[in-house]
Amino acid sequence: MRILIVEDERHLAEALSQILTEQHYQTDVVYDGTDGLDYALSGQYDAMILDVMLPKMDGFEVARRLREAHSPLPILMLTAKDEVSDKISGLDRGADDYMTKPFDAGELLARVRALTRRQGEVVGNSMTVEDLNLRLDARCLVCGENSVRLGFKEFEIMRLLMSHFGLIVPKETIISKVWGLESDAEDNNVEVYISFLRKKLSFLGSKLSIRTTRKVGYCLEVAGL
Ligand code: CA
Repeated sequence: MRILIVEDERHLAEALSQILTEQHYQTDVVYDGTDGLDYALSGQYDAMILDVMLPKMDGFEVARRLREAHSPLPILMLTAKDEVSDKISGLDRGADDYMTKPFDAGELLARVRALTRRQGEVVGNSMTVEDLNLRLDARCLVCGENSVRLGFKEFEIMRLLMSHFGLIVPKETIISKVWGLESDAEDNNVEVYISFLRKKLSFLGSKLSIRTTRKVGYCLEVAGL
């Protein structure tokens, strides 16, 4: 798990990084909102800890722009104030959770766990979301009594969708994570693999399905929502 920390108070940024590193998270730290947004958009992170009061661009604006760019990155917002209006403001702009400074390590870790948990529970060599279990070593997808093998790209796409369960994963993210940044894969390639995966989900009889948001991306969700 890789966590992006955006906090201009350096001692606090360091403390956050240390607490997370001790729990085996990988962290990157940046000190202003503009860098925060750039790093967050790289698609490399599993969650982001975002201070509100930042140089160059405040945390609310970073969150708003991330969501505008359809980034599914979970955001834990930090604020020195505990006014309700600030919390609403942040959540309106796309933050997923809130933490008021000062906080203790236990609280931080609990919130980061909660934020990243919805990215599918990885236990040993498998990832589980609802009735689906993805075997990471065997590259197969299991639902109840049924299972299917996935091709390499199908597997990578499925893992991405499961780890962002309920969130829209932009096509560009899929292309850059599965084909690589330098690739010339196009939207059509993604669509072909999504259609393979849909057939496999329906064969498995899973209650999950992949919804297309036109021109944006794909979302794994409970069918019929
Ligand atoms: Ca600050």
